[in-house]
Amino acid sequence: MTPSSPEPVLSSSAVAVRLETIQRRIAAACRASGRAVDGVTLTAVSKTQPPEAIAAALAAGQRVFGENRVQEAQGRWNDRREGVSGLELRLIGPLQSNKAADAVALFDVIETLDRPKLADALATAGARAGKPVRVLIQVNTGAEPQKAGVLPGDAGQLIEYARTAGLVVEGLMCIPPADEAPGPHFALLRKIARRHGLETLSMGMSGDFETAIRFGATHVRVGSSLFGERKGPETPSMD
Ligand SMILES: *Cc1c(COP(=O)(O)O)cnc(C)c1O
Repeated sequence: MTPSSPEPVLSSSAVAVRLETIQRRIAAACRASGRAVDGVTLTAVSKTQPPEAIAAALAAGQRVFGENRVQEAQGRWNDRREGVSGLELRLIGPLQSNKAADAVALFDVIETLDRPKLADALATAGARAGKPVRVLIQVNTGAEPQKAGVLPGDAGQLIEYARTAGLVVEGLMCIPPADEAPGPHFALLRKIARRHGLETLSMGMSGDFETAIRFGATHVRVGSSLFGERKGPETPSMD
């Protein structure tokens, strides 16, 4: 084993500049499609980033963050939670049912509900914690076998199941196939959301958030454009 070299960390002013650039691009995309600029929230994807990068984003005023692993997020955010007002943490990675209680304790919104068993576990955890559980349903719009998410045709049933279980279903989330144009996937997600009266659409990442805004995204999840390339482990589907 060779010792790993220290991660290159963007200076805090570089993070602030990138943040401003992305906010400007979001605003321009909103205007281009006749949408209100405050209708789109930037979720800063802080997975695998060093503490300095997160501190820089917080100092620049960013308050909404996305993480893809419960344990990693606990290490990174448990001690910070108290000191930061207005902080919102969103889980954007797959969740195992046996981590539901930990996820409910740490996260404000869980974006990756994709099966009834997990809905049950989240409902139980929420009841125990005396906390409403806000969720998005992740839809596998490309029906990719290796990817998480409920199939588009089964989304309606899961939405109803989650509502009946007592979860607060706020909307839908998707990660389009890496090798396809994302537009049709975003359009499909929006169509399913409308059919079920759901407001929140979490879609669009560094490479396609402007397209997602054109298709109605309310939350865009941006990591590498904001913090630079990740060096740590990632969700396999993102590679
Ligand atoms: C990592 C990740 C992102 C951010 O991706 P970038 O291309 O770095 O912006 C967005 N959504 C999910 C679900 C992710 O896992």
